[in-house]
Amino acid sequence: MTALAPQSFQKADRPVLRERGQREVFCGLTRIVWLHRKLQDAFFLVVGSRTCAHLIQSAAGVMIFAEPRFATAIIEDRDLAGMADAEAELDRVVEQLLERRPDIKLLFLVGSCPSEVIKLDLSRSAHRLSRQYHPQVRVLNYSGSGIETTFTQGEDACLEALVGALETAPADAEADLLVVGALPDVVEGQFARLLSALGIRNVGFLPSRSADSLPRIGSSTRFLLAQPFLATTAAALEKRGATRIAALFPIGVEGTTGWLTAAARAFGIDGAKMIEVLTPPAQRARNALAAWRSVLEGKSLFFFPDSQLEVPLARMLCRELGMRAIEIGTPYLHREHLKEELELLPDSALLSEGQDVERQLDRCRAARPDITVCGLVPRDNQGETRRQSG
Ligand code: SF4
Repeated sequence: MTALAPQSFQKADRPVLRERGQREVFCGLTRIVWLHRKLQDAFFLVVGSRTCAHLIQSAAGVMIFAEPRFATAIIEDRDLAGMADAEAELDRVVEQLLERRPDIKLLFLVGSCPSEVIKLDLSRSAHRLSRQYHPQVRVLNYSGSGIETTFTQGEDACLEALVGALETAPADAEADLLVVGALPDVVEGQFARLLSALGIRNVGFLPSRSADSLPRIGSSTRFLLAQPFLATTAAALEKRGATRIAALFPIGVEGTTGWLTAAARAFGIDGAKMIEVLTPPAQRARNALAAWRSVLEGKSLFFFPDSQLEVPLARMLCRELGMRAIEIGTPYLHREHLKEELELLPDSALLSEGQDVERQLDRCRAARPDITVCGLVPRDNQGETRRQSG
């Protein structure tokens, strides 16, 4: 292995290669597989084609014993040809579903490419059905269509819809912190414990685990994004009067410590308390990463755009594990939300936004990275990319 020169780091105004060619990404429907595990009394009803149904089923795997909490209302040729009343058909499907599943408290009607093509107005359906099934079931809608979005934007659209359903906190409510973005339960529990140990009393999570425990929102709310792909959710929260706490994203020791520290500062927690609470877990995390550093240090890295997690992941892999990023591709770069992250990226890496997949594959082949991180790659190039990455 060749020894590498230390990387230098530069400010957030670095140049970005913007590409608007053919993209290879998963559509927003696939995020349902993750979200339905978090929102435990919610059901996701995709209004789509057989293709949409197959995609979700193959992404989720086969559930033989569990009652699934997602399904597809298939748009048939008759609907596409305008020969059937799609709204009446949807009402019938919802009625059958809610009769059979009284445990559902929150129903998402999820739009898809086909429902957008026939211009089915799911927001109108959601309003109508919400009135009909109130107060047992709340019905919301969002789009998971792959026409313009990537898979993590499916979560963004879902959480934006949830923000619209949150109650407003009174103007004189005590300051509260809202952590925004679906996290694994174990991570959510750790963050809740650490934030409480820091002395932040009112902490909520969006999404919450049940429809009954949705947080309230208002000008007393400060929110921390736990994921970097929640631009429209953040805008919806700000419109409701909440204030975003600017921070690194909680990936790696540096990111997680920075994220928790930003929350502590926003709530006036003193520095001694932060050191007392955050130093032991940070040291444990450093120890856990040490073994990976010996494997990954000096290895080169190429990110294809997939999830918008690429920038914080690259920051962590370069700064904490000594990897060398060649290209950091991201589907969409939100400069304001990523400001703190961009300050810490190695200036030797090319930052690219969007995709022209063939040109990017050419750059990847020429760079011959040790590790390539990608979502979808055209079939003809899979073997090639694997060979280069191996
Ligand atoms: S890309 Fe469109 S048609 Fe294909 S599965 Fe996703 S929503 Fe359905």
